[in-house]
Amino acid sequence: ENRESVNFIQKIINEDLESGTYGNRVHTRFPPEPNGYLHVGHAKSICLNYSLAKKNNGIFNLRFDDTNPTKEDISFVESIIKDVKWLCPDWEERIFYASDYFDQMYDYAVELIKKGIAFVDDLSAEEIKEYRGTLTEPGKESPFRNRTVEENLELFSKMKNGEFANGEKVLRAKIDMASPNINMRDPVIYRILHESHHNTGDKWCIYPMYDYAHPLEDAIEGITHSVCTLEFEDHRPFYDWVLSNTDDFKAAPTKQIEFAKLFLSKTMMGKRYLKKMVEEGYVDGWDDPRMPTVAALRRRGYTPESIQSFCEAIGVSKAQSVVDIAMLEFAIRDDLSLKAPRTMAVLDPIKLVITNYPEDKIEYMEAENNPDNPEMGSRMVPFGRELYIERDDFMEEPPKKYYRLFPGNEVRLRNAYFVKCESFVKDEDGKVVEVHCTYDPETKSGSGFTGRKVKGTIHWVSAKHYVDAEVRLYDYMMDDEDFDKSNFLEKLNPNSKIVLKNCKMEPTLKENKIGDRFQFLRHGFFIIDQDTTEEHLVFNRIVQLKSSFKG
Ligand code: ATP
Ligand code: MG
Ligand code: MG
Repeated sequence: ENRESVNFIQKIINEDLESGTYGNRVHTRFPPEPNGYLHVGHAKSICLNYSLAKKNNGIFNLRFDDTNPTKEDISFVESIIKDVKWLCPDWEERIFYASDYFDQMYDYAVELIKKGIAFVDDLSAEEIKEYRGTLTEPGKESPFRNRTVEENLELFSKMKNGEFANGEKVLRAKIDMASPNINMRDPVIYRILHESHHNTGDKWCIYPMYDYAHPLEDAIEGITHSVCTLEFEDHRPFYDWVLSNTDDFKAAPTKQIEFAKLFLSKTMMGKRYLKKMVEEGYVDGWDDPRMPTVAALRRRGYTPESIQSFCEAIGVSKAQSVVDIAMLEFAIRDDLSLKAPRTMAVLDPIKLVITNYPEDKIEYMEAENNPDNPEMGSRMVPFGRELYIERDDFMEEPPKKYYRLFPGNEVRLRNAYFVKCESFVKDEDGKVVEVHCTYDPETKSGSGFTGRKVKGTIHWVSAKHYVDAEVRLYDYMMDDEDFDKSNFLEKLNPNSKIVLKNCKMEPTLKENKIGDRFQFLRHGFFIIDQDTTEEHLVFNRIVQLKSSFKG
């Protein structure tokens, strides 16, 4: 179903290519407002627009929709550029700013006035709202609607020259106050705002409204297919009205096409809410790996390829739905399973002593780097009399079907020998601190031993050769699905970040650098975090191994 609907935008493009609506051109764009960090919903829009361009030998623009001087913060521009470049690695950077088109937008507004289809209105914002009518009742025409072209031209020019205060006048399109679509009831296209703008400074004190500016931005850049989300469907008639009434663009106006926004289970989306979490300290910043921002996914360890393939897999559709976050996790596991080397990491260590193994002996055990990808070769891992194993790989009194270590039971140490638990040591508080085993030299891994079988295999790290590390276990942001924008702060998962400070890793990990990814055997996929220093190694859990998603 999803795979077919991937085609609904491509189908439109195919028809346009066939009929030559835009010649052989396909040109898409992503138009963020620079007012926050991008999230995975934006990533979906970026991947979609970028791949539509790429598949059709077309062009993809990043355009900052910076027409509102009061709302934007230019500091977000850099993070957005970084994210788009990361998601689209071979993109030839085409970066534009809507505010660069203010002069042209003004000229096109003058054109509408000259055609008698735009007028300067003196009604206040409240009156305009009142006159607009409702879904069931038509609106009322403004008493200023029938001003002459000359009068409108003069007033609009005075608006531009700063002769009026904020709110004193607006420019409106003259369409139809009885239209069943409220967006067509003489929408405002310019308002007065005595504000300086980060790009144009104090040059302008009138600014175009989004619904008027957006189609012009698209058309000026030669965008052929303007892909946006469903909430703009009702705005499309006005989008089309603007372009069909502008001589430069009416021959081949840009086509607006809507699709459903992405929402993810167990995840709060929406810039405003994410901002609240950052500002009120519920997370450690915009790139906290629990966040659904692109910056956070990158830090968490997601690859651009995994996000692209996730976006392909969910497809595009007109029907609003919530995508299971398990699909995103499936995509990163799928991407890393053949790429990430495997390694042994003990996250909650307890000592294992092999009492019949010589004190000073060290052996180097060959361990495959990725059994599913033999090309990745193998490494030699030091082994000795004292090892660390996971605390929960030993139980004094095991339940049924527990196949790991307990008194009398034998397990395989991965890449090494069979060991049999003989006894254990407790501290004064009754906590187990050491497990004592004996090993059988006959059972060495790779020796072809077939004498007997064991049910459990556990991993280990040499107590003489380990590297210390901090490991941060991240989990879903929300506990369950029972949250909305009114209560999400109370519904945050209290266990979404667990920090383990005493982890023992294979010494081979010492060679690696920030951003390297691994599979820790039996634990999941991990990445070396940017907090890592020369002395202190920090890992983030990207995702656990097990999946409930059958992909
Ligand atoms: P938010 O709702 O999170 O505040 P926004 O819509 O205000 O986001 P913009 O900067 O206006 O953010 O969005 C840029 C583009 O990203 C728009 O074309 C918008 O339709 C698209 N977009 C925003 N959220 C999603 C989403 N969840 N899924 C897909 N596309 C989205
Ligand atoms: Mg928006
Ligand atoms: Mg928003």
